[in-house]
Amino acid sequence: MPHVITQSCCSDGSCVYACPVNCIHPSPDEPGFATAEMLYIDPVACVDCGACVSACPVGAIAPDTRLEPAQLPFIELNAAFYPKREGKLPPTSKLAPVLEAPVVRRRSKAPLTVAIVGSGPAAMYAADELLTQKGVRVNVFEKLPTPYGLARAGVAPDHQHTKRVTTLFDKIAARRGFSFYLNVEVGSDVTHDELLEHHHAVLYAVGSPTDRRLDVDGIGLPGTATATEVVAWYNGHPDFAGLTVDLNTEQVVIIGNGNVALDVARILTMDPDVLSRTDIADHALQALRSSRVREVVIAARRGPAASAFTLPELIGLTSTGDVVLDAADHERVLADLSTETDPLTRNKLEVLSGLGDASAPITRPRIRFAYQLTPRRVLGTDSAQGIQFEVTGTDDVAQISTGLVLTSIGYRGVPIRGLPFDESAAVVPNDGGRVLDPATGAPLPGSYVAGWIKRGPTGFIGTNKSCATETVHNLVADYNDGLLSEPAHTGSALDRFVRGRQPAVIDAAGWKAIDAAETARGGGVRPRAKFSSVAEMLEAAADVPAPPVHRRLLAGLRR
Ligand code: NAP
Repeated sequence: MPHVITQSCCSDGSCVYACPVNCIHPSPDEPGFATAEMLYIDPVACVDCGACVSACPVGAIAPDTRLEPAQLPFIELNAAFYPKREGKLPPTSKLAPVLEAPVVRRRSKAPLTVAIVGSGPAAMYAADELLTQKGVRVNVFEKLPTPYGLARAGVAPDHQHTKRVTTLFDKIAARRGFSFYLNVEVGSDVTHDELLEHHHAVLYAVGSPTDRRLDVDGIGLPGTATATEVVAWYNGHPDFAGLTVDLNTEQVVIIGNGNVALDVARILTMDPDVLSRTDIADHALQALRSSRVREVVIAARRGPAASAFTLPELIGLTSTGDVVLDAADHERVLADLSTETDPLTRNKLEVLSGLGDASAPITRPRIRFAYQLTPRRVLGTDSAQGIQFEVTGTDDVAQISTGLVLTSIGYRGVPIRGLPFDESAAVVPNDGGRVLDPATGAPLPGSYVAGWIKRGPTGFIGTNKSCATETVHNLVADYNDGLLSEPAHTGSALDRFVRGRQPAVIDAAGWKAIDAAETARGGGVRPRAKFSSVAEMLEAAADVPAPPVHRRLLAGLRR
């Protein structure tokens, strides 16, 4: 009864370190880790102890006998990662090497104090790593009144397993030494230099808050948007609650076929009754209930073997939805299969080759993968009426009628006030998370990055764990080497300063009140019914009873 890793694998590697026999790979220290689509359990070496199940923050692991029917392909997928062997080999009984926690050499003055900007996965994993050391203080600044970045506003609402990682983040936020400063925008409410006056270092984990734009005629017409905007819309992000997503069209076209495109296509074709049991935003659920969409076409400029989506997501999509290919694309899949040698790509192609035919009548909203389509222009004068493609590598033109064109060609980082920016890669130039001055190539003292703003918008939630760990190790090394200036202000001065700038700052108690109010609004049927305006969030946060005076005094003393 070996254990099996399934679709929601977040790749944070916690299972690897929990496994007593080192049967989960690639581990974070192995070369394939950075590019792996998920982690895999060796069914021969697994001793069924279940330690990985407890360690996994997203409930992605189960014994093979307890899988849902849709998860059964993952048994073969896990096994396929390991070479075929004759007979049962003994487990290695060797623990995966854990990167030692960074040892902070404490000074007599103030303890190491770090401001983290952003509160998504990279920020929370960085806080976790810093707080492995006693006495370290971490203050997390977030523009929204709610924390957790893409774990809250990026993961699709039908992927509640993946969202479970927020339970881990709640635990990190409850650790001694951790403080939230939510509803505070760094760059406008407080500046980078001001944060440095109160901290030894500022670590930016702000992600890639916008997206790459497709530069073709007609983009920008009503009826065009980006998939990432739609993701933020259906997830109740306050900045996108008012987005017009007109679903009064039978066909939607998504350009690009990464996992974001799959998420959006799935949500647009899913039964709204199923979604009504998730934390999807109310406005999105309402729009989906009156949707006329019958088909979402996911159009890629290259062929099937170059598909950007991952195999676990493809398996998840095809096991629950109606996904088809037209005859020409079936041919392309078979042609690619006849030459492809990479086992992972072959697996993807095999799943694609088993898809239904697009000529079949549409009986329920469905998804169609389409290949070799390079977008040329969006058709229409006042609003999108269709999209014209060049059949890649030919002079042929193809056209699809649609009232909604969504581009899904990747996220993009934006410059951070006070820090250098690499325009072409859309990241902050850095070496292992140390921000570099482009003029001299030397590190900028006290400035660090982690997550997508450090390495670009790729990978899964847990990929940010090893990314943040690397940054924190370098930060601590710089502190130990005396390279970080002592902050000019310490203790409760920060609280007073931030409140002076943003009186509506939300702390951990305020977030707990918002969290409880959203959960209560879910009525036990949904995990939560999200607030999608800042005003509602602030109102819910205001319901927190003020802590008794002795607790406030004690909190002041602890700082
Ligand atoms: P992505 O995986 O980088 O896919 C981008 C897509 O856009 C590719 O198909 C790419 O095609 C296409 N593209 C780029 N420029 C184009 C152009 N000018 N014209 C037409 N097509 C163009 O990006 P993503 O989907 O935004 O995902 C970002 C990251 O988040 C990925 O690592 C993804 O795995 C991760 N993610 C994971 C999950 C999950 O695990 N459930 C969910 C969402 C996101 P080419 O390949 O031809 O360039």
